[in-house]
Amino acid sequence: MSDSLFDDASRRLERALQYVSLSEDTKERLKYPKATLIVSIPVRMDDGSLRVFQGYRVRYDDTRGPTKGGIRYHPNVSIDEVKSLAFWMTFKCAVVSLPFGGAKGGITVNPKELSRMELERLSRGYIDAIADFIGPDTDIPAPDMYTNPMIMGWMMDEYSIIRRQLSPAVITGKPVSIGGSLGRNTATAMGAFFAIETIMPKFEYTPEKTTVAIQGFGNAGAFLAELLCLHGYKVVAVSDSQGGIYSAQGLDIPSIRQYKEVNKQIQAVYCKDSVCNIVEHTVLTNEELLALDVDILIPAALENQITEENVKDIQAKFIFEAANGPTTSGADKILEDRGVYVFPDILINAGGVTVSYFEWVQNRSGLYWTLDEVNQKLKAKMVAETENIWQISQELSISMRTAAYVHGLDRLGQAINAKGTRAFYAKR
Ligand code: NAD
Repeated sequence: MSDSLFDDASRRLERALQYVSLSEDTKERLKYPKATLIVSIPVRMDDGSLRVFQGYRVRYDDTRGPTKGGIRYHPNVSIDEVKSLAFWMTFKCAVVSLPFGGAKGGITVNPKELSRMELERLSRGYIDAIADFIGPDTDIPAPDMYTNPMIMGWMMDEYSIIRRQLSPAVITGKPVSIGGSLGRNTATAMGAFFAIETIMPKFEYTPEKTTVAIQGFGNAGAFLAELLCLHGYKVVAVSDSQGGIYSAQGLDIPSIRQYKEVNKQIQAVYCKDSVCNIVEHTVLTNEELLALDVDILIPAALENQITEENVKDIQAKFIFEAANGPTTSGADKILEDRGVYVFPDILINAGGVTVSYFEWVQNRSGLYWTLDEVNQKLKAKMVAETENIWQISQELSISMRTAAYVHGLDRLGQAINAKGTRAFYAKR
Protein backbone atom coordinates (compact mmCIF):
# COMPACT_ATOMS: atom_id res chain seq x y z
CA MET A 1 0.00 0.00 0.00
CA SER A 2 1.35 3.43 -0.95
CA ASP A 3 1.56 5.81 1.98
CA SER A 4 1.18 9.14 0.17
CA LEU A 5 -0.66 11.85 2.08
CA PHE A 6 -3.50 11.63 -0.43
CA ASP A 7 -3.86 7.85 -0.02
CA ASP A 8 -3.98 8.40 3.72
CA ALA A 9 -6.62 11.13 3.30
CA SER A 10 -8.69 8.84 1.06
CA ARG A 11 -8.75 6.16 3.77
CA ARG A 12 -10.89 8.50 5.90
CA LEU A 13 -13.35 8.75 3.06
CA GLU A 14 -13.48 4.96 2.72
CA ARG A 15 -14.27 4.64 6.44
CA ALA A 16 -17.12 7.16 6.22
CA LEU A 17 -18.59 5.65 3.04
CA GLN A 18 -19.84 2.67 5.09
CA TYR A 19 -22.28 4.96 6.89
CA VAL A 20 -23.84 6.86 3.99
CA SER A 21 -25.78 5.67 1.03
CA LEU A 22 -24.19 7.24 -2.03
CA SER A 23 -24.48 6.33 -5.68
CA GLU A 24 -21.50 4.53 -7.22
CA ASP A 25 -21.14 7.56 -9.55
CA THR A 26 -20.70 9.87 -6.60
CA LYS A 27 -18.10 7.61 -4.96
CA GLU A 28 -16.16 7.41 -8.22
CA ARG A 29 -16.32 11.19 -8.76
CA LEU A 30 -14.94 11.94 -5.29
CA LYS A 31 -11.81 9.83 -5.83
CA TYR A 32 -10.24 12.28 -8.30
CA PRO A 33 -9.53 16.03 -8.40
CA LYS A 34 -11.42 17.96 -11.06
CA ALA A 35 -8.36 19.83 -12.32
CA THR A 36 -4.67 20.11 -11.45
CA LEU A 37 -2.30 22.85 -12.58
CA ILE A 38 1.50 22.79 -12.16
CA VAL A 39 3.37 25.95 -13.11
CA SER A 40 6.93 27.24 -13.24
CA ILE A 41 7.36 30.76 -11.91
CA PRO A 42 10.48 32.64 -13.02
CA VAL A 43 11.52 35.28 -10.48
CA ARG A 44 14.20 37.94 -10.86
CA MET A 45 16.13 37.89 -7.58
CA ASP A 46 17.56 41.01 -5.93
CA ASP A 47 21.12 40.08 -7.03
CA GLY A 48 20.03 40.01 -10.69
CA SER A 49 19.95 36.21 -11.03
CA LEU A 50 16.85 34.30 -12.18
CA ARG A 51 15.27 31.52 -10.11
CA VAL A 52 12.38 29.35 -11.19
CA PHE A 53 9.92 28.12 -8.53
CA GLN A 54 7.32 25.34 -8.80
CA GLY A 55 3.72 26.33 -8.09
CA TYR A 56 0.51 24.31 -7.89
CA ARG A 57 -3.24 24.80 -7.84
CA VAL A 58 -5.71 21.92 -7.47
CA ARG A 59 -9.49 22.32 -7.83
CA TYR A 60 -10.88 19.17 -6.26
CA ASP A 61 -14.66 19.37 -6.63
CA ASP A 62 -16.96 22.23 -7.60
CA THR A 63 -20.36 20.57 -7.39
CA ARG A 64 -21.49 22.74 -4.47
CA GLY A 65 -20.03 26.02 -5.81
CA PRO A 66 -16.81 27.73 -6.89
CA THR A 67 -13.77 26.06 -5.36
CA LYS A 68 -12.08 27.62 -2.34
CA GLY A 69 -8.79 27.03 -0.58
CA GLY A 70 -5.60 28.64 0.66
CA ILE A 71 -2.14 29.08 -0.81
CA ARG A 72 0.82 27.64 1.10
CA TYR A 73 4.47 28.69 0.83
CA HIS A 74 6.73 25.97 2.24
CA PRO A 75 9.83 24.04 1.13
CA ASN A 76 7.90 20.73 1.38
CA VAL A 77 4.92 21.77 -0.77
CA SER A 78 4.26 19.06 -3.36
CA ILE A 79 1.44 18.11 -5.68
CA ASP A 80 0.50 15.26 -3.30
CA GLU A 81 0.17 17.69 -0.40
CA VAL A 82 -1.81 20.27 -2.40
CA LYS A 83 -4.17 17.57 -3.72
CA SER A 84 -4.78 16.29 -0.18
CA LEU A 85 -5.42 19.78 1.14
CA ALA A 86 -7.87 20.43 -1.75
CA PHE A 87 -9.66 17.17 -0.91
CA TRP A 88 -10.01 18.23 2.75
CA MET A 89 -11.29 21.66 1.67
CA THR A 90 -14.07 19.97 -0.33
CA PHE A 91 -15.32 18.22 2.80
CA LYS A 92 -14.70 21.22 5.06
CA CYS A 93 -16.90 23.50 2.93
CA ALA A 94 -19.62 20.84 2.90
CA VAL A 95 -19.33 20.24 6.68
CA VAL A 96 -20.01 23.92 7.47
CA SER A 97 -22.47 24.23 4.57
CA LEU A 98 -20.69 26.91 2.56
CA PRO A 99 -21.67 27.18 -1.13
CA PHE A 100 -18.15 26.24 -2.18
CA GLY A 101 -16.16 23.28 -3.42
CA GLY A 102 -12.58 22.58 -2.38
CA ALA A 103 -9.24 23.73 -3.80
CA LYS A 104 -5.71 24.45 -2.62
CA GLY A 105 -2.53 26.02 -3.95
CA GLY A 106 1.09 26.31 -3.03
CA ILE A 107 4.64 27.13 -4.00
CA THR A 108 7.68 25.05 -3.09
CA VAL A 109 9.73 27.77 -1.42
CA ASN A 110 11.21 28.79 1.91
CA PRO A 111 9.77 32.31 2.15
CA LYS A 112 12.10 33.14 5.06
CA GLU A 113 15.01 33.10 2.55
CA LEU A 114 13.41 35.75 0.28
CA SER A 115 13.52 39.53 0.60
CA ARG A 116 10.17 41.31 0.70
CA MET A 117 10.57 42.43 -2.93
CA GLU A 118 11.41 38.87 -4.04
CA LEU A 119 8.37 37.60 -2.13
CA GLU A 120 6.16 40.14 -3.91
CA ARG A 121 7.58 39.25 -7.35
CA LEU A 122 7.04 35.54 -6.62
CA SER A 123 3.44 36.13 -5.43
CA ARG A 124 2.58 38.22 -8.48
CA GLY A 125 4.30 35.66 -10.73
CA TYR A 126 2.18 32.88 -9.22
CA ILE A 127 -1.02 34.82 -10.00
CA ASP A 128 0.18 35.53 -13.58
CA ALA A 129 0.69 31.78 -13.99
CA ILE A 130 -2.69 30.68 -12.60
CA ALA A 131 -4.89 33.67 -13.58
CA ASP A 132 -6.96 31.65 -16.06
CA PHE A 133 -7.58 28.93 -13.47
CA ILE A 134 -9.02 31.19 -10.73
CA GLY A 135 -11.78 33.82 -10.53
CA PRO A 136 -14.59 35.04 -8.24
CA ASP A 137 -17.00 32.49 -9.79
CA THR A 138 -14.58 29.62 -10.37
CA ASP A 139 -11.84 29.37 -7.75
CA ILE A 140 -11.09 31.73 -4.87
CA PRO A 141 -7.72 31.45 -3.06
CA ALA A 142 -6.92 32.55 0.51
CA PRO A 143 -3.96 32.45 2.95
CA ASP A 144 -2.48 29.28 4.42
CA MET A 145 0.88 28.51 6.02
CA TYR A 146 3.45 31.28 5.51
CA THR A 147 1.11 33.45 3.45
CA ASN A 148 -0.74 36.41 4.97
CA PRO A 149 -2.99 39.43 4.23
CA MET A 150 -0.10 41.39 2.70
CA ILE A 151 0.49 38.62 0.15
CA MET A 152 -3.26 38.31 -0.55
CA GLY A 153 -3.31 42.08 -1.22
CA TRP A 154 -0.51 41.78 -3.82
CA MET A 155 -2.28 38.83 -5.42
CA MET A 156 -5.65 40.59 -5.67
CA ASP A 157 -3.90 43.61 -7.18
CA GLU A 158 -2.09 41.45 -9.76
CA TYR A 159 -5.28 39.65 -10.75
CA SER A 160 -7.10 43.01 -11.10
CA ILE A 161 -4.28 44.34 -13.34
CA ILE A 162 -4.52 41.24 -15.57
CA ARG A 163 -8.32 41.52 -15.82
CA ARG A 164 -8.25 45.35 -16.10
CA GLN A 165 -10.98 45.39 -13.48
CA LEU A 166 -10.87 45.67 -9.70
CA SER A 167 -11.68 42.12 -8.52
CA PRO A 168 -11.67 41.95 -4.71
CA ALA A 169 -13.81 38.78 -4.64
CA VAL A 170 -11.10 36.72 -6.39
CA ILE A 171 -9.20 36.20 -3.16
CA THR A 172 -9.98 36.35 0.55
CA GLY A 173 -7.88 37.11 3.61
CA LYS A 174 -6.98 40.52 2.14
CA PRO A 175 -6.07 43.55 4.25
CA VAL A 176 -9.25 45.27 5.49
CA SER A 177 -8.22 48.46 3.64
CA ILE A 178 -8.76 46.75 0.25
CA GLY A 179 -11.87 44.66 0.92
CA GLY A 180 -10.78 42.21 3.60
CA SER A 181 -13.32 41.22 6.23
CA LEU A 182 -13.05 42.25 9.83
CA GLY A 183 -12.37 39.14 11.89
CA ARG A 184 -10.73 37.12 9.05
CA ASN A 185 -7.31 37.16 10.70
CA THR A 186 -8.61 35.59 13.90
CA ALA A 187 -11.32 33.45 12.25
CA THR A 188 -9.57 30.05 12.27
CA ALA A 189 -8.73 30.38 15.95
CA MET A 190 -12.13 31.82 16.82
CA GLY A 191 -13.91 28.95 15.03
CA ALA A 192 -11.79 26.37 16.88
CA PHE A 193 -12.51 28.17 20.15
CA PHE A 194 -16.28 28.03 19.58
CA ALA A 195 -16.02 24.29 18.84
CA ILE A 196 -13.96 23.68 22.00
CA GLU A 197 -16.48 25.65 24.07
CA THR A 198 -19.31 23.55 22.58
CA ILE A 199 -17.59 20.23 23.29
CA MET A 200 -15.87 20.56 26.67
CA PRO A 201 -19.03 21.13 28.80
CA LYS A 202 -20.34 17.78 27.48
CA PHE A 203 -17.45 16.19 29.42
CA GLU A 204 -18.00 18.48 32.41
CA TYR A 205 -14.70 20.30 31.95
CA THR A 206 -14.55 23.94 32.95
CA PRO A 207 -11.83 26.22 31.54
CA GLU A 208 -10.10 26.54 34.92
CA LYS A 209 -9.60 22.78 35.22
CA THR A 210 -8.49 22.29 31.61
CA THR A 211 -4.81 22.20 30.64
CA VAL A 212 -3.84 22.82 27.01
CA ALA A 213 -0.72 22.35 24.86
CA ILE A 214 -0.52 23.93 21.40
CA GLN A 215 1.94 23.06 18.62
CA GLY A 216 2.42 25.95 16.17
CA PHE A 217 2.29 29.64 17.08
CA GLY A 218 1.16 31.28 13.83
CA ASN A 219 -2.21 32.52 12.64
CA ALA A 220 -4.14 29.49 13.90
CA GLY A 221 -2.09 28.54 17.00
CA ALA A 222 -1.17 31.90 18.52
CA PHE A 223 -4.64 33.46 18.32
CA LEU A 224 -6.21 30.27 19.67
CA ALA A 225 -3.69 30.12 22.54
CA GLU A 226 -4.54 33.71 23.40
CA LEU A 227 -8.31 33.18 23.23
CA LEU A 228 -8.11 30.12 25.47
CA CYS A 229 -5.81 31.89 27.93
CA LEU A 230 -8.09 34.96 28.10
CA HIS A 231 -11.07 32.67 28.78
CA GLY A 232 -9.41 31.00 31.75
CA TYR A 233 -7.96 27.81 30.20
CA LYS A 234 -4.52 26.88 31.47
CA VAL A 235 -2.28 26.94 28.38
CA VAL A 236 0.80 25.17 29.72
CA ALA A 237 2.84 24.73 26.52
CA VAL A 238 3.27 26.35 23.10
CA SER A 239 5.81 25.85 20.32
CA ASP A 240 6.89 27.02 16.88
CA SER A 241 9.30 25.58 14.31
CA GLN A 242 12.23 26.34 16.68
CA GLY A 243 10.78 24.35 19.62
CA GLY A 244 8.55 25.03 22.63
CA ILE A 245 8.16 26.20 26.21
CA TYR A 246 6.28 24.69 29.16
CA SER A 247 5.10 25.95 32.52
CA ALA A 248 2.85 23.88 34.81
CA GLN A 249 1.34 27.13 36.19
CA GLY A 250 0.23 28.19 32.71
CA LEU A 251 1.84 30.65 30.29
CA ASP A 252 0.87 34.30 29.83
CA ILE A 253 0.03 34.05 26.13
CA PRO A 254 -0.64 37.75 25.40
CA SER A 255 2.88 38.51 26.67
CA ILE A 256 4.39 35.70 24.60
CA ARG A 257 2.63 36.99 21.46
CA GLN A 258 3.82 40.52 22.15
CA TYR A 259 7.40 39.26 22.59
CA LYS A 260 7.29 37.09 19.46
CA GLU A 261 6.02 39.95 17.32
CA VAL A 262 9.11 42.00 18.18
CA ASN A 263 11.78 39.31 18.60
CA LYS A 264 10.46 36.65 16.15
CA GLN A 265 10.89 33.90 18.72
CA ILE A 266 8.89 32.24 21.45
CA GLN A 267 10.02 33.04 24.99
CA ALA A 268 8.27 32.42 28.34
CA VAL A 269 7.78 36.02 29.41
CA TYR A 270 5.46 38.20 31.41
CA CYS A 271 5.17 41.70 29.95
CA LYS A 272 4.00 44.88 31.66
CA ASP A 273 3.58 47.50 28.95
CA SER A 274 6.69 47.17 26.75
CA VAL A 275 8.89 45.61 29.46
CA CYS A 276 9.03 41.80 29.30
CA ASN A 277 10.68 39.63 31.96
CA ILE A 278 11.48 35.95 31.55
CA VAL A 279 9.49 33.66 33.88
CA GLU A 280 10.29 30.15 35.08
CA HIS A 281 9.74 27.53 32.38
CA THR A 282 11.07 24.38 30.74
CA VAL A 283 12.32 24.32 27.15
CA LEU A 284 10.69 21.56 25.06
CA THR A 285 11.11 19.96 21.66
CA ASN A 286 8.03 19.65 19.47
CA GLU A 287 8.03 15.89 20.12
CA GLU A 288 8.00 16.49 23.87
CA LEU A 289 5.14 18.96 23.55
CA LEU A 290 3.00 16.38 21.74
CA ALA A 291 3.63 13.86 24.54
CA LEU A 292 2.65 16.16 27.45
CA ASP A 293 0.11 14.95 30.00
CA VAL A 294 -2.54 17.61 29.28
CA ASP A 295 -6.31 17.54 28.83
CA ILE A 296 -6.29 19.15 25.36
CA LEU A 297 -3.62 18.88 22.69
CA ILE A 298 -3.94 21.25 19.72
CA PRO A 299 -1.74 20.59 16.69
CA ALA A 300 -1.72 23.93 14.80
CA ALA A 301 1.30 23.60 12.50
CA LEU A 302 1.93 20.92 9.87
CA GLU A 303 0.37 17.64 8.77
CA ASN A 304 1.59 14.18 9.88
CA GLN A 305 2.57 15.18 13.42
CA ILE A 306 0.77 12.36 15.27
CA THR A 307 1.76 9.14 13.57
CA GLU A 308 1.85 5.40 14.26
CA GLU A 309 5.42 5.91 15.54
CA ASN A 310 4.69 8.51 18.25
CA VAL A 311 1.02 7.83 19.02
CA LYS A 312 1.97 5.65 21.99
CA ASP A 313 3.45 8.75 23.67
CA ILE A 314 0.28 10.84 23.39
CA GLN A 315 -1.28 11.38 26.82
CA ALA A 316 -3.87 14.07 26.02
CA LYS A 317 -7.54 13.12 26.46
CA PHE A 318 -8.81 15.41 23.69
CA ILE A 319 -7.16 16.44 20.44
CA PHE A 320 -8.54 19.42 18.55
CA GLU A 321 -6.97 19.63 15.08
CA ALA A 322 -6.42 23.29 14.21
CA ALA A 323 -3.88 22.22 11.55
CA ASN A 324 -4.87 20.33 8.44
CA GLY A 325 -4.05 16.63 8.52
CA PRO A 326 -1.93 16.51 11.71
CA THR A 327 -3.00 12.93 12.56
CA THR A 328 -2.36 10.02 10.19
CA SER A 329 -5.18 7.53 9.62
CA GLY A 330 -3.12 4.78 11.35
CA ALA A 331 -2.66 6.92 14.46
CA ASP A 332 -6.32 7.88 14.36
CA LYS A 333 -7.41 4.27 14.70
CA ILE A 334 -5.09 3.69 17.68
CA LEU A 335 -6.30 6.87 19.43
CA GLU A 336 -9.91 5.85 18.86
CA ASP A 337 -9.28 2.39 20.35
CA ARG A 338 -7.64 4.07 23.37
CA GLY A 339 -10.69 6.30 23.89
CA VAL A 340 -8.93 9.58 23.00
CA TYR A 341 -11.39 12.02 21.41
CA VAL A 342 -10.05 13.50 18.16
CA PHE A 343 -11.98 16.50 16.84
CA PRO A 344 -11.12 16.70 13.15
CA ASP A 345 -9.54 19.44 11.06
CA ILE A 346 -12.46 19.63 8.63
CA LEU A 347 -14.61 20.91 11.49
CA ILE A 348 -12.17 22.52 13.93
CA ASN A 349 -10.32 24.84 11.53
CA ALA A 350 -13.36 25.60 9.34
CA GLY A 351 -13.69 29.07 10.91
CA GLY A 352 -11.07 30.38 8.46
CA VAL A 353 -12.94 29.41 5.32
CA THR A 354 -16.24 30.45 6.90
CA VAL A 355 -15.09 34.04 7.36
CA SER A 356 -13.44 33.87 3.91
CA TYR A 357 -16.92 33.10 2.63
CA PHE A 358 -18.25 36.11 4.57
CA GLU A 359 -15.52 38.23 2.95
CA TRP A 360 -16.50 37.03 -0.54
CA VAL A 361 -20.19 37.81 0.19
CA GLN A 362 -19.26 41.31 1.42
CA ASN A 363 -17.06 41.94 -1.66
CA ARG A 364 -19.87 40.92 -4.00
CA SER A 365 -22.60 42.85 -2.23
CA GLY A 366 -20.49 45.91 -1.46
CA LEU A 367 -21.97 45.96 2.04
CA TYR A 368 -19.47 45.51 4.88
CA TRP A 369 -20.22 44.00 8.31
CA THR A 370 -19.05 44.94 11.79
CA LEU A 371 -16.67 42.67 13.71
CA ASP A 372 -19.54 41.73 16.00
CA GLU A 373 -21.71 40.66 13.06
CA VAL A 374 -18.88 38.54 11.64
CA ASN A 375 -18.15 36.82 14.94
CA GLN A 376 -21.82 36.20 15.72
CA LYS A 377 -22.42 34.59 12.32
CA LEU A 378 -19.24 32.52 12.75
CA LYS A 379 -20.27 31.39 16.21
CA ALA A 380 -23.76 30.38 15.05
CA LYS A 381 -22.28 28.22 12.28
CA MET A 382 -19.53 26.60 14.33
CA VAL A 383 -21.79 25.78 17.27
CA ALA A 384 -24.56 24.37 15.03
CA GLU A 385 -22.25 22.18 12.93
CA THR A 386 -20.27 20.96 15.96
CA GLU A 387 -23.58 19.91 17.55
CA ASN A 388 -24.73 18.23 14.30
CA ILE A 389 -21.53 16.19 14.05
CA TRP A 390 -21.63 15.32 17.75
CA GLN A 391 -25.19 13.99 17.29
CA ILE A 392 -24.15 11.87 14.27
CA SER A 393 -21.19 10.46 16.19
CA GLN A 394 -23.42 9.58 19.17
CA GLU A 395 -26.23 8.07 17.07
CA LEU A 396 -23.94 5.92 14.88
CA SER A 397 -21.31 5.29 17.62
CA ILE A 398 -18.54 6.54 15.35
CA SER A 399 -15.61 8.90 15.85
CA MET A 400 -16.09 12.63 15.40
CA ARG A 401 -13.87 12.44 12.31
CA THR A 402 -15.97 9.79 10.60
CA ALA A 403 -19.12 11.66 11.68
CA ALA A 404 -17.78 14.86 10.08
CA TYR A 405 -17.12 13.01 6.81
CA VAL A 406 -20.59 11.45 6.95
CA HIS A 407 -22.09 14.92 7.43
CA GLY A 408 -20.08 16.42 4.55
CA LEU A 409 -20.65 13.42 2.28
CA ASP A 410 -24.36 13.66 2.80
CA ARG A 411 -24.39 17.27 1.52
CA LEU A 412 -21.99 16.48 -1.32
CA GLY A 413 -23.93 13.41 -2.39
CA GLN A 414 -27.19 15.36 -2.45
CA ALA A 415 -25.60 18.05 -4.63
CA ILE A 416 -24.06 15.54 -7.05
CA ASN A 417 -27.35 13.68 -7.37
CA ALA A 418 -29.31 16.92 -7.76
CA LYS A 419 -27.29 17.61 -10.89
CA GLY A 420 -28.74 14.50 -12.46
CA THR A 421 -25.64 12.45 -13.10
CA ARG A 422 -27.11 9.30 -11.63
CA ALA A 423 -30.32 9.41 -13.64
CA PHE A 424 -28.38 10.11 -16.84
CA TYR A 425 -26.25 7.00 -16.48
CA ALA A 426 -29.09 4.84 -15.15
CA LYS A 427 -31.09 5.36 -18.38
CA ARG A 428 -28.27 4.18 -20.65
P1 NAD B 1 1.38 30.22 10.00
O1 NAD B 1 2.37 30.28 8.93
O2 NAD B 1 0.71 31.48 10.44
O3 NAD B 1 2.01 29.54 11.31
C1 NAD B 1 2.61 28.29 11.29
C2 NAD B 1 3.24 28.03 12.65
O4 NAD B 1 3.70 26.69 12.69
C3 NAD B 1 4.43 28.92 12.93
O5 NAD B 1 4.40 29.30 14.30
C4 NAD B 1 5.61 28.00 12.68
O6 NAD B 1 6.77 28.37 13.40
C5 NAD B 1 5.03 26.70 13.18
N1 NAD B 1 5.73 25.52 12.67
C6 NAD B 1 6.22 25.30 11.44
N2 NAD B 1 6.82 24.09 11.39
C7 NAD B 1 6.69 23.56 12.63
C8 NAD B 1 7.10 22.35 13.23
N3 NAD B 1 7.79 21.44 12.53
N4 NAD B 1 6.77 22.13 14.52
C9 NAD B 1 6.09 23.06 15.23
N5 NAD B 1 5.68 24.21 14.73
C10 NAD B 1 5.98 24.46 13.45
O7 NAD B 1 0.30 29.12 9.55
P2 NAD B 1 -1.21 28.98 9.98
O8 NAD B 1 -2.03 29.76 9.03
O9 NAD B 1 -1.34 29.19 11.45
O10 NAD B 1 -1.46 27.45 9.63
C11 NAD B 1 -1.18 26.40 10.57
C12 NAD B 1 -2.07 25.23 10.23
O11 NAD B 1 -3.44 25.65 10.28
C13 NAD B 1 -1.86 24.66 8.82
O12 NAD B 1 -2.08 23.26 8.85
C14 NAD B 1 -2.96 25.31 8.02
O13 NAD B 1 -3.30 24.56 6.87
C15 NAD B 1 -4.07 25.32 9.05
N6 NAD B 1 -5.12 26.28 8.75
C16 NAD B 1 -4.90 27.61 8.69
C17 NAD B 1 -5.94 28.47 8.36
C18 NAD B 1 -5.76 29.96 8.31
O14 NAD B 1 -6.77 30.65 8.10
N7 NAD B 1 -4.58 30.49 8.52
C19 NAD B 1 -7.23 27.96 8.12
C20 NAD B 1 -7.43 26.59 8.22
C21 NAD B 1 -6.37 25.76 8.53
